[in-house]
Formats: sequence, C-alpha cells, structure tokens
Amino acid sequence: MSSIELDRVSKRFGAVNVIADLSLEIRSGEFVAFLGPSGCGKSTLLRMIAGLERVDGGQIRIGGTRVDTLPPGARGVAMVFQHYALYPHMTIYENMAFGLRNVAVPRGEIDRLIHEAARILEIEPLLERKPGQLSGGQKQRAAIGRALVKNPRAYLFDEPLSNLDAALRLRTRVELARLHQQVRATTIFVTHDQVEAMTLAARIVVLNARQVEQIGTPMEIYARPASEFVARFVGSPA
Ligand code: ADP
Ligand code: MG
Repeated sequence: MSSIELDRVSKRFGAVNVIADLSLEIRSGEFVAFLGPSGCGKSTLLRMIAGLERVDGGQIRIGGTRVDTLPPGARGVAMVFQHYALYPHMTIYENMAFGLRNVAVPRGEIDRLIHEAARILEIEPLLERKPGQLSGGQKQRAAIGRALVKNPRAYLFDEPLSNLDAALRLRTRVELARLHQQVRATTIFVTHDQVEAMTLAARIVVLNARQVEQIGTPMEIYARPASEFVARFVGSPA
C-alpha cells in the first residue's frame, strides 16, 4: 500500500478554477473521506489522482513516485464509481477479470483472486450472471470486487453508496468498514454525506469551493469545526 500526496494541485475548466493550489497527504493504509457539497470538486480531485483528468498545476505522488504525468493504467489505483460502470454484456466474473488482463496475472491466479474477492463480498453465487440480472447493491459489490482483485496501491471511491436505498447503504457501509479492517488499504472515499464520512474514515478532508476547509479526525471536525462552513455542513442532518 502507498501514500498519496497532492502538492499544490490546480484544475481549471475553461475560465473556472475548480481546484486551486491544493496540498494534502494521505498516509499508507489510511482511510480518508473527502467530504463536501455537490459541485465542490470532489470527483475532479479523485479523477486527477486516477489519471482520468489532467492536472493544470502541481504534482501528484503515489508511494513517493510522481504519477500525474502517467496514464491511468500505470498508476496502480482502482476506482469505484457511483454508477458501477460494469460492462453489461459481460458476466460478473468477466467484469472482475477484465481489469487483470493487462497486468500479466496467470489464469489460475485470476480465478483464485476473483473467488476470494467474491467470497468476501458475498457475491460468489452471482459470478456467472450479467449486471442486468443483479440488484443495485449486488452491482455495487461487484464493482467493489472488481477493484479488490486488482490489488491496487490505493482505492478511490466516488460516492459508491449514494445509489443504494437506506438499508442497503448502511449494510454496505458496514461491509466496507470490515473490508478495510482486513485489507488496511489506502482509501479515499468521496461523499457528500457527513454520517458516512464520520463512521468510515480515520480522517476527514472537508472541501469547499476550490480548497481544503479543514482536515481532522471525525471527532476533531465535529467538536472543533474550523469555520462557519464546516460547522454548518457537519452539523446539518443527512
Ligand atoms: P463534486 O464531485 O464535488 O460534486 P465535481 O468535481 O464533479 O464536484 O465538479 C466540480 C466543478 O467542476 C463543478 O462546478 C462542475 O460543474 C465542474 N466540472 C466538472 N467536470 C467538468 C468538465 N468536464 N467540464 C467543465 N466543468 C466541469
Ligand atoms: Mg462528484
């Protein structure tokens, strides 16, 4: 597992500065939440780390190595999206195997990895089904499984639970917490839901327009909000 460093990262869309000179460090094995209102730049930040979006300034380092000039496939991170992004024409097994095709993993090992991840996520009986035959929660677990088998240096989750109903969201949240207990993977979990951030993350990065508003443990942020914005955002019910 690897640390992730953002060093004065900036991003512009046209004339709009979405991220400005943002620096922060995520330690190896740490579970960090990016928390902030819709449109504050959470997805853009994550996509820049994954390499799906170019940085306009600054550097991104993973495990001490500069990656912002590398293509997504060379960064060793796995991203899980809000909308699953599973291939509809492939089975769940094929979806999970797909990400491994480029990394020269022997066939038997691929099979072992997929069954291991499917067992942890309790989707083993679903491996031969196609995404269209799965519920929302099952699809989301399949998407998490696909990230797991890649054995990445870090996991990037972009609001992975926001499409699920309340009961399933809670259950999957508990599963994610359990998974992190086992795997101890460097994880960035993007959410606009303060309860999710508070219950999952060791540290929370509160984002507001373009910048970090506050970084701290859930308790620090709750007990000592650094600004009016944080106090209002963290204090308001989900
Ligand atoms: P969040 O994930 O926190 O809701 P985003 O990172 O998706 O926020 O978006 C941050 C801002 O950047 C928003 O104002 C959004 O409209 C804008 N934005 C995001 N992607 C693009 C794009 N490809 N082109 C232009 N503007 C974009
Ligand atoms: Mg977003």
